[in-house]
Amino acid sequence: MKYNRSYNFSAGPAMMPEPVLEEIALEVMNYNGSGMSVMEMSHRSKMFIDIYDQAVADLKALMNIPDNYKVIFVQGGGTLQFAMVPLNLMKNGVACYVETGSWSKKAIAEAKKYGEVKVVASSKDKNFTYIPDCSDLDIPENADYVYICENETINGTTYSKLPNTKGHVLVSDQSSMFLSRPCNVADYGLIWAGVQKNVGPAGMSVVIVREDLLRDDLDPKCPIYCSYKTHADADSMYNTPNCWAIYCCGKVFKYLLDNGGLEAMNQKNIDKAAVLYNYLDQSKFYNAPVAKEDRSLMNVPFTTPSAELDAEFVKESKKVGFDNLKGHKSVGGLRASIYNAMPKDGVEALVDFLKKFEEAHA
Ligand SMILES: *Cc1c(COP(=O)(O)O)cnc(C)c1O
Repeated sequence: MKYNRSYNFSAGPAMMPEPVLEEIALEVMNYNGSGMSVMEMSHRSKMFIDIYDQAVADLKALMNIPDNYKVIFVQGGGTLQFAMVPLNLMKNGVACYVETGSWSKKAIAEAKKYGEVKVVASSKDKNFTYIPDCSDLDIPENADYVYICENETINGTTYSKLPNTKGHVLVSDQSSMFLSRPCNVADYGLIWAGVQKNVGPAGMSVVIVREDLLRDDLDPKCPIYCSYKTHADADSMYNTPNCWAIYCCGKVFKYLLDNGGLEAMNQKNIDKAAVLYNYLDQSKFYNAPVAKEDRSLMNVPFTTPSAELDAEFVKESKKVGFDNLKGHKSVGGLRASIYNAMPKDGVEALVDFLKKFEEAHA
């Protein structure tokens, strides 16, 4: 408790690793002898280009990204990707989407502006509390891609097995699970992630795209900024990038590499999530609605027996140093986001609080 920081269970922007924040704090007045912070530095300077190159190299090492994929950093957050994906990948004007909750619904609504969208599977019938069977989807021959939200941040679900796309390009929104576990990049045509969930500060997405999907024959009305090729050709420096986010994310990539990489992170995340789910499951007071096999290790939605008690829970938990446990306004209830940077201590402390609250209110 060196800095008196709270246990922050926010879904995003969310916690960053403390050693990374300490390094950033040390460097904020004078980065590496430059006499300035990275916030004040030209993106064309050698020093910043080195920061950029190192961040890309570290991400490639961390995820074992094959050589035929490009890594780009794009501003605009996750929401811009809902448009950029169809703008760039709809060649025939047809795409398949799996509807698993709030973020896939937003992606579907946006994609419909650009072409024909076929919802090939949905878990709407049970309020998005599970991942539908995607082993035999009805995918039209001319579909340009199959799109999933691999971890639904609000609904708390994740895929244990990727859809069978029958040879079509798989596109995945990994925003709230990016770098939480090993990922075989070759299974995807494109992966994107808004970084403020599991990596760094808000305002940027990482896009990992297979080179053959980069096109220069887009609709001429497509903004230059919205073409992946613009960013790929310019190494994310077509215009001024989000230098600060690139720098902070680079630090997190390095930190993960130094701490055992994604295998180690996955093991920690499994252990951490088990502490919380095990408690919720044995309790008759709390309810964790998501089907066991489809539960997210990152976002854990749960409820007490009533909306009044949920509100009371938020109030009391805040008093003792737990922040952001309120569920998303669209679904209500409670939610604990326990990303990479949340220590196991934090989850154990939360479970202690859950016990006390249950004893007081059951
Ligand atoms: C947060 C989130 C988004 C949207 O990100 P913004 O940066 O707020 O636009 C998209 N997809 C998922 C899965 C998210 O968790």
